[in-house]
Amino acid sequence: MFPPSPKIVRILPLAKIKGSLDYRIKTSVNKNPISVGSLVKIPLHKKVEFGVVQSFHEKSNVKPEKLKNILSSPYSHPVLSPSLIKLADWIRTYYASSWQSILERMIPPALRKSTQSKQQTFVLITKEGTNQCFDQLPKNATQQKKILKFLEKESKPIAQTTLIKKLNVSSNTINVLMQKGWLKKNNQVVQRKVYDDSLSDAERIMGEISLNKEQKNAINSIKASLKTESFHTHLLHGVTGSGKTEVYLGSIESVLKKGGGVLFLVPEVALTPQTVDRLRTRLKGLQEEVVVWHSHLSAGERHDAWLAVSKGESRVVVGARSAVFAPIPRLRLIIVDEEHEPAFKQEENPRYHGRDVAVYRAFLENAVCVLGSATPSLESLRNANKNKYQYEKLTQRVDHRDLPRIQVLDLRRESRKKGFGGLLSLPLEDKLRDRWQKKEQSILFMNRRGYHAHYFCKNCGHIEMSPDASIPLTYHRTDNTLRCHITGFVKPATKYCSKCEHGHMTGKGTGTQRIEEAVKRSIPKAKVVRMDADTMVKKNKFRQILQDFRLGKIDILVGTQMIAKGLDFPNVTLVGIVDADRSLHIPDFRAAERTFQLIVQVSGRAGRGERSGEVIIQTFTPHAEPIQYARRGDFDGFFKYELERREEFSYPPFRHVSRHIFRSRNEEKVCFYLDQWIKVLEEENIIDLEIRGPAPAPIAVLRGEYRFQIWYFTPKIPKVISKIQNLMNHFPLDREVNQTIDVDAQSMN
Ligand code: ADP
Repeated sequence: MFPPSPKIVRILPLAKIKGSLDYRIKTSVNKNPISVGSLVKIPLHKKVEFGVVQSFHEKSNVKPEKLKNILSSPYSHPVLSPSLIKLADWIRTYYASSWQSILERMIPPALRKSTQSKQQTFVLITKEGTNQCFDQLPKNATQQKKILKFLEKESKPIAQTTLIKKLNVSSNTINVLMQKGWLKKNNQVVQRKVYDDSLSDAERIMGEISLNKEQKNAINSIKASLKTESFHTHLLHGVTGSGKTEVYLGSIESVLKKGGGVLFLVPEVALTPQTVDRLRTRLKGLQEEVVVWHSHLSAGERHDAWLAVSKGESRVVVGARSAVFAPIPRLRLIIVDEEHEPAFKQEENPRYHGRDVAVYRAFLENAVCVLGSATPSLESLRNANKNKYQYEKLTQRVDHRDLPRIQVLDLRRESRKKGFGGLLSLPLEDKLRDRWQKKEQSILFMNRRGYHAHYFCKNCGHIEMSPDASIPLTYHRTDNTLRCHITGFVKPATKYCSKCEHGHMTGKGTGTQRIEEAVKRSIPKAKVVRMDADTMVKKNKFRQILQDFRLGKIDILVGTQMIAKGLDFPNVTLVGIVDADRSLHIPDFRAAERTFQLIVQVSGRAGRGERSGEVIIQTFTPHAEPIQYARRGDFDGFFKYELERREEFSYPPFRHVSRHIFRSRNEEKVCFYLDQWIKVLEEENIIDLEIRGPAPAPIAVLRGEYRFQIWYFTPKIPKVISKIQNLMNHFPLDREVNQTIDVDAQSMN
């Protein structure tokens, strides 16, 4: 708390400054107390900046006359807990990033601007209103009577807008009652709710569920860890449809009953509504408010969510990656669902991995972390093998439902058959039609949005490339445009080649739009809907589509990885993977793992209800290991196979792999400095470090900058990376060259 006499306060500025700076506090200017974690305004380089209090000290190395005063502290309570400051410090060293980039993630921008809480007018009945007899009102004053009766029954303030909507009355009528002194109005702060309850699809029947033995064992094991009030990590490996969410819910209830807080991380914003709905339905009895947290929130929503959580008014937070920083007091349990998902890795500074930060946060808070997946990452499985994580397995689908039958279709043969339209094999088309006739639902998966993968000239071979990134532009038929999926660049598509000017431009390769069109052509009467990043630009569109799908208003859902995991639709009996090769033949050592995970996850959407499910995988390489292991549902076999391969090349999980990207508009300069840098590294001869490269990055030019990369392989990541970082700090890099280290890189682009 606020120290009795003016002291030195060490501040971490939210500005381009390495490390902390010392300031003084003057009691007179600070109406709010200042403690570790407080957000303060400070003078810095002739500007006013924000900073976070790191610590208090008696003395400073700065000369007293040079010490400046803190200007103010806008909040009465700290914005970061001591453990979140420690977490920031850990991320800074582990991921070689700056305080500024991390603190800016942890403290929502709305808190640094003057975003106000939302006020709403509430109406309540007065004593006079309660006591008045209706005789005083004329017979025909039905509206007034309706309001009085309603508010008397509710006996709490009701938002005026709700009252008007619910009772279908006018604000005039409310005002008339106010003038009589029977009603009162007041303004209250309300939380901007992210999900409108009217859209909730949680009403689905969730009768009493009796947990099976495996589920009970897993919950008991997690509860036993919770009881110790010390750090534990559990890896919950449950086949798709094995009821992992029930295990999470059981553990969450037990934490809430004991007054603790819960953090629930999902890999995609698209998965938050389903999870929130399930939690809200289940936790209704506990009157628990579930807060939603992700990057699609407006500044106001984020502000309100942050306040509700930090004040302890809401103890359950569900969100994507950035929710890992939610300021939950008494955090006891962190759940990371679909822990294997690469989407947990942030691809800009600070380049943290949400799952790994979650585990470290649990360590700092003495909490329990549960990592769940049907296809755990090799990293997590190895940790379980080494007994760092407790391993819980759910081997059965609930109610002993069968796992879906998986059939691999060899496109080499199928594509030769008469009637093959180029995308969907005849057996897949037949099965889609069959399900539609039976009023069952299907999902078609294609991991690329757009219509054609690229657009080229049949005359001269010219391919339309993104002007900002060295990748081809994707053709989008819906609005006849060419789009860059990396930078968002858009331009109209024309028939004429920009090189040879012939009118022979055409598209090649397949995206979701083309699949949607093919299905509509094949089964014109079926209701086909596409769900990918292009259709999802509108807020709440995810929810609407998923709700319509659940209600049976959609027969066939076509989508990208957005629909690949986590979704639980009992009426889906067929899943088609249109192009299983797409993720397999890419230059990434995780390609086999990703393909296996994708097939198992997408397949897992089938047969989750009474009727069993079927999966069709289309591929030109039916013999490929990940496809065959996935077909057999042989997780252990795949794990063993892939682990051997990784060990042979010393890839993760045997060593950490990080990449160092150098980029500049000036190609010569970037090459020169990269050479110099490699020389520095070689001279230093850091033990436990193997360097591979340099080489141009696969996306060799991005937004006008040339990109090159080197790879660092090491078993000792924090030690080696901090040595590299130290060297870099003293390396005389040209101003025109930028560099970033991507620790535990997931993306190879
Ligand atoms: P997972 O996350 O493992 O894929 P879910 O938790 O989504 O599986 O569970 C699948 C479905 O089974 C859900 O609709 C859930 O309500 C239901 N379920 C879970 N456990 C049981 C159980 N023990 N008995 C009956 N139904 C269950």
